[in-house]
Amino acid sequence: MELQICKKCLMLSTRPRLTFNAEGVCSACEWSEEKHSMVDWGKRELELRELCDRYRSDNGQFDVIVPASGGKDSSMVAHRLKTQYGMHPLCVNISHHPLVNTEMNEINLNNFVNHGFSMIRIYPNPVIEREMDRNGLIDYGQPYMGWMAAMLLAPIKIGMRFGIPFIMYGEEGEVEYGGSLELKNSMLYSLEQTKRLYLSDIDVKKLYKSATEGDGFSWWEAPSEEEIEQVKPAVAHWSYFHNWNSNENYRYARDHVGLQSKPCNSVGTYNAFAQTDSILYSLHTYFMYLKFGFGRCSQDVCIDIRSGELSREAGIDLIKQYDEAYPEEYEERYLQYYNMTRDEFYAVIDKWANKELLEKRNGRWTKKFDIAKL
Ligand SMILES: [Zn+2]
Repeated sequence: MELQICKKCLMLSTRPRLTFNAEGVCSACEWSEEKHSMVDWGKRELELRELCDRYRSDNGQFDVIVPASGGKDSSMVAHRLKTQYGMHPLCVNISHHPLVNTEMNEINLNNFVNHGFSMIRIYPNPVIEREMDRNGLIDYGQPYMGWMAAMLLAPIKIGMRFGIPFIMYGEEGEVEYGGSLELKNSMLYSLEQTKRLYLSDIDVKKLYKSATEGDGFSWWEAPSEEEIEQVKPAVAHWSYFHNWNSNENYRYARDHVGLQSKPCNSVGTYNAFAQTDSILYSLHTYFMYLKFGFGRCSQDVCIDIRSGELSREAGIDLIKQYDEAYPEEYEERYLQYYNMTRDEFYAVIDKWANKELLEKRNGRWTKKFDIAKL
């Protein structure tokens, strides 16, 4: 298949589930246009008010679960639900393994909670999580499948235990950043969609290959159909109700809950405020680059072009500068976390590198194509 690049942003056709219209514009850009012209945000805001009215407790009990990383997006969601919608959020944080967690994450989580939020922090069994992440990396080229699955399933399970069916995540990534448009007009989504769209229908429990009878899988087990029927969870994304803008979320969280950004830009990109909670995110985007030929910088550039904060020309320069960067500064910690030698780790990298798009030069995978010429 010939490599195509969006005429508006700079997203490549290799992005899973991304589609292009006849003018060569990608589905994320089409959605971005629609957000500004066709979506009736007033109506959607009203839908959120009604949803909150349906679940709001009148005695101060928790009434909405907000999965929270301590980052800009979830902090904004929790703060606005509390201050603008009179909700009583119970935030749920899925801790990263200590070997990959960042100091910045601890600082921001503390800042956030200290602004008046209640939070349950889950430490999923690190032995299981680590093995799942290792096998996910080898078998699927995905560095944190164990953590990701816990993040998608555990908040629903906590909600069920506390009798809180209403769960509010941040953005619907498929619609916002390019992918399936299935959920763009859906207020709520199902467990089946969670598994299919966000976990690629992979049974994450199978990544724990050394499992023995009686090992606690609870955070990785989806609720049963009976449980779902009983509690009827209402799982939503904030981006359905309000026009999502990552940069505005950052400014909001900085001003309202003291969110801090890193003193320098993250590896592979030019910004310093997104996804700073785990060093695995840099590896996640590096593997995205290996598989699809676009990296963390491309992803950020496309977001900023769509929001009108960056020109396509400036975006091309940034991508050329940052996109291919290997997160070398974390390499030792990756080897430790995945329990691999450097040779084993590099073999996984080479296995997942897309040889049609990339070639190895001086030991690193570089692009064979020039985005300015596509
Ligand atoms: Zn586009």
